[in-house]
Amino acid sequence: MKGKVYLMGAGPGDPDLLTVKAMRVLRASEVVLHDDLVAAEILELIPAWTQVLNVGRRCGQAGMPQEKIHSLLISAAREGHQVVRLKGGDPLLFGRVGEEMEALSRAGIDFEVIPGVTSAMGAAAAARIPLTDRRFASKLVFVSNHAAGNTPATWDDVIAKDATHVVYMPGTNYGEIAAKLSAGGLDGRTPCLIVANATQGEQQIRRTTLRELPLEPRLPAPMLLIVGKVARPLPPFEDPAKPSPRATSEPHEEILHLTDTRVKA
Ligand code: SAH
Repeated sequence: MKGKVYLMGAGPGDPDLLTVKAMRVLRASEVVLHDDLVAAEILELIPAWTQVLNVGRRCGQAGMPQEKIHSLLISAAREGHQVVRLKGGDPLLFGRVGEEMEALSRAGIDFEVIPGVTSAMGAAAAARIPLTDRRFASKLVFVSNHAAGNTPATWDDVIAKDATHVVYMPGTNYGEIAAKLSAGGLDGRTPCLIVANATQGEQQIRRTTLRELPLEPRLPAPMLLIVGKVARPLPPFEDPAKPSPRATSEPHEEILHLTDTRVKA
């Protein structure tokens, strides 16, 4: 049988957020090379007969050299295996998939990308943030605060008042990030969310403002920031069992209208 490599997104952690295709391919995999970021609950879905290898690096610790990952992917596919390269979130975002695709292509290995729910979307869903609410944001920018090699991460050029900013890999220097966003023209009152372990059991969400961001406790990795007016709190939840004086008779009118339609039909 001809081998193939699937560059697959594992999503932000909740196994229910895996795509149906990812699940199907993972269940039929023979070799899985995964990043450290992939949640344990997702790894549990890998069949017992599959060879599994953690090739990830975390928090600056040296992982497997990238060239070694390439040669493992290539040799497993050449042996005829169905190989999954499993990455956190979406495989095409803020990882080394570009280098892997080039290596596979050069080696003549068949490969396919299976998208995943990126952590920005998992975090926004968990915190109920309408990322491009038309009243506040006409732009959505995903930036990495961690650049390759020793070069500083530059994203000053995309900071805008009418943008929602999602900062991946923010690190722990919140002061530096807040200074960068303020220098980019954002008001100190701009809402700011810190979301750690989005969609997982240990999920933590902290709501603050740009001005207060440097004072926030450091949450554990993986963690990201969502900064922009859209991250403002929602109005208080109104319990339908306890109608407030502001609630009019509208719901009843709606019910009557629906009943009328049915009777006529
Ligand atoms: N490909 C991944 C991103 C890899 S970069 C994706 O699409 O999500 C790694 C960074 O992603 C982490 O430093 C963190 O900023 C973010 N991240 C990944 N999983 C996360 C999670 N469950 N909760 C919050 N942030 C997460």
